[in-house]
Amino acid sequence: MSQMLLELKGIRRSYGDGSSAVEVLHGIDFSVRRGEMVAIIGPSGSGKSTLMNIIGCLDKPSSGSYKVDGRDTASLEPDDLAELRRNFFGFIFQRYHLLGHLDAAENVQVPSVYAGLKREKRSKRSVELLQRLGLKDRVGHKPSQLSGGQQQRVSIARALMNGGQIILADEPTGALDSKSGAEVMRILEDLNAQGHTVILVTHDPRIASHAHRVITISDGAISSDEINANVPDYSEQKVNSDEVYLKSGWASSVRAYMDRFSEAYVMAIRAMLSNRMRTLLTMLGIIIGIMAVVTVVALARGASSKVVENISSMGTNTITVMPGARMGDVRSGKVRTLTMKDLNALKGQPYVDSISATVSNTVYLRRGNQENSATAYGINTDYFRVYGMEVAKGRLFTEDEAASLPQICVIDALTARTFFPNEDPLGKRLLFGKLPMMVVGVLTDKEVAFRPNDNMYVYVPYQTYSARIIPRNYLSSMIVRIADGFSTAVAEDSITSLLKNRHGRKDFFIQSSDTIMKSINQTTATFTLLISAIAVISLIVGGIGVMNIMLVSVTERTREIGIRMAVGARQSDIMTQFLIEAITVCIIGGLTGVLLSVALGWLLSYVAPAIPLSFSVYSIVVAVITSSVIGVVFGFMPARNAAKLNPIEALARE
Ligand code: ADP
Repeated sequence: MSQMLLELKGIRRSYGDGSSAVEVLHGIDFSVRRGEMVAIIGPSGSGKSTLMNIIGCLDKPSSGSYKVDGRDTASLEPDDLAELRRNFFGFIFQRYHLLGHLDAAENVQVPSVYAGLKREKRSKRSVELLQRLGLKDRVGHKPSQLSGGQQQRVSIARALMNGGQIILADEPTGALDSKSGAEVMRILEDLNAQGHTVILVTHDPRIASHAHRVITISDGAISSDEINANVPDYSEQKVNSDEVYLKSGWASSVRAYMDRFSEAYVMAIRAMLSNRMRTLLTMLGIIIGIMAVVTVVALARGASSKVVENISSMGTNTITVMPGARMGDVRSGKVRTLTMKDLNALKGQPYVDSISATVSNTVYLRRGNQENSATAYGINTDYFRVYGMEVAKGRLFTEDEAASLPQICVIDALTARTFFPNEDPLGKRLLFGKLPMMVVGVLTDKEVAFRPNDNMYVYVPYQTYSARIIPRNYLSSMIVRIADGFSTAVAEDSITSLLKNRHGRKDFFIQSSDTIMKSINQTTATFTLLISAIAVISLIVGGIGVMNIMLVSVTERTREIGIRMAVGARQSDIMTQFLIEAITVCIIGGLTGVLLSVALGWLLSYVAPAIPLSFSVYSIVVAVITSSVIGVVFGFMPARNAAKLNPIEALARE
C-alpha cells in the first residue's frame, strides 16, 4: 500500500479575519502511513492542538491541502467531515470527555450509534472492548464512579468502537497520575502493534519517546521529523482486526436511521428526566394552554348542543312575532300596534295551523299557608296546540268561554304536586295574588324548550289575563304554529308582509327556530374565533417558554454536543435530538393538558351538572397536533443553534 493514509501539504491556519488575523500554523507538510505511531511534540502554544483538530477533521485549514485516505477534505461539508470522523478517527482527550449521564458501555457505544451498527452488535462490542481494557466489572458505571485512569480507558474503548483506524490522542496522560499514565501509554502501544495508526500530541518528551516517529513543532512550523529507532515500526501492516470485525453488522440505511432516531429519543427522554423540575416548568405553559383550549371548546360545544336540543324539542315549525325592531330593542315596550285584530287576521291564513297571543309575568300563588312564585301565562286555547301540551286531568278552556273573562286556570304538573299533594286539584281554587282562579285542568309532565323545569307554570285565558291580571289592549307576543306542508321561511315572509301591510311599517320582528339557530351559530362562530385567538396567544406564550428552556438546555449541554460531534454525529443527528426533546415536551404537555381538561369535565359533571362539557375527539386531536407543531416551531431555533455549533469551540466549553 503506497498511498498515504494522511497527507498534509502547506497547511496554514489563522484565527480572526482581516488585519487582526493571526496565523498559528505556517505551512505544515507531512504524511502518515497506515499503522504508524507518531508523536507531535512542542511547547504549549506552538499549535499542536490546532494541528490535531485539523487532522481529526474537527477544523479546516485556512489554506493548504489535507487528504484522508486519498480524499481531499477541502471541499467537504460538515456532514462529510462527520462521516470521516466516524469512520476513520477515534479521539482520546486529555479530559476524557465522557457523557456524564451515560454509563461506561453507553459512552463507548455513542460513535457506533451514528455509524449505524446494529443494536445487538453495538452492546456486545462495547462490553468486549471494555473487557479488553480491563473494565469488565465497570460496564454499568457512570463516569463519576470511575477513576481518571478508568475514564481514560473508557474513552479509548469509545475511540475503538467504530474500528479506530486512526487514534488521535491529545495529551492522553495529561490529567493522570504516572501509573495510570503509563497504563494508557501501554494500551496505545498495544493498539499500534495491532495495526491501529496512532497520533498523539504531547509537550512531554518522555511520552513522545513511546512513538516510533516524533514530529516537533515550534511556533506553528515543523522543526524536526525524526524516527525513534528504539520503538518498533508497525506501519504498512495488515488491516487491524477491529476493522474486519466491524465489516458485518452495519444496518441498512433505513434501519440505521430508525435506530438513530430511537436512540435520539432515548437521549431526549433521559435529558428530560435528569432535569425533571425544569421539564415540568417548561411543560406548564403548554399544559395550561391546551387545557384551557380543550375545556373552553368543550364548554362551547356543550352549551350549544344544549341549546340545539332545546330548539329541536320546541319543534321547527313555530314562529314568534314580537313588537320592536329586533330582540332587545329598548323601544319595543312603546310599540302597541300588535293587537288581537292582527291575530285574528293571521288566524285565517292557510299556513297558520294555530295561533295564540301570549303574555306572561310572575305571580304569587297561594293556597292555605302554601305560597310559591310561578309564571302565569295569558294565552289563547290554541297555545296548547302550538306547544303540543295535553291535559292529564280535567280540560282545557275554550275560546267561547274565555270571552266572558272566567276566573279559571290550567296548571302544570309541578304546581299540582306542590299545592295539591294529596287531593284532586280539579274544581279547587288557587289565589293568583289576590285573585282566585279555579283549576279546570292539569297538564301532563313535559319539558318545554328554554324553560327551567323547576319553575311552576300556570295558564289563564288571555282575555281574563288582560282584563284582570295586567290590563292592556295590545299584545306582547304571538306564537304561531305553521301548518304542515308549509315551510317556516315562506310562512315568515307571508306573516311579515301581512303585518307590514296592516301596520304600514315594520314595527315587529319574527323569531323562529331558524332565526334562533342562525343567531346561535353566529354567536358560536364568534365565540370560537375568540377562543382560537386566546388559544393561539397562550400557546405562543407556552412555545416561547419551550424555546427559552431549550436554548438554556443547548447552552448547558454545549460540551455534550461537542463530544457527540467529535465522535461523528451529523448536524442532523444533533438537530434531531433537540427537536425530539422539544416535541416530546410539548406532546406530553399537550396530552397532560387534555387529560386534566377531561378530568375537570368529569369533576364538573358532578359539581355543576348544569354546565355541560362536550369533548370532541377532533379538538383533542387538534390540540395534540398543535402542541407538536409548537414543539417543532419553537424547538427549531435552539436545535439549529445546537447543530451549527463548532465542534472545537463546543468541546472547549466547560
Ligand atoms: P498548543 O496545543 O500547542 O498549546 P494551540 O494549538 O492550542 O497550541 O494554540 C496555538 C496558538 O493559537 C496559541 O497562541 C493560541 O492562543 C492560538 N489559538 C488557539 N485557538 C484559538 C482560537 N480559537 N482563536 C484565536 N487563537 C487561538
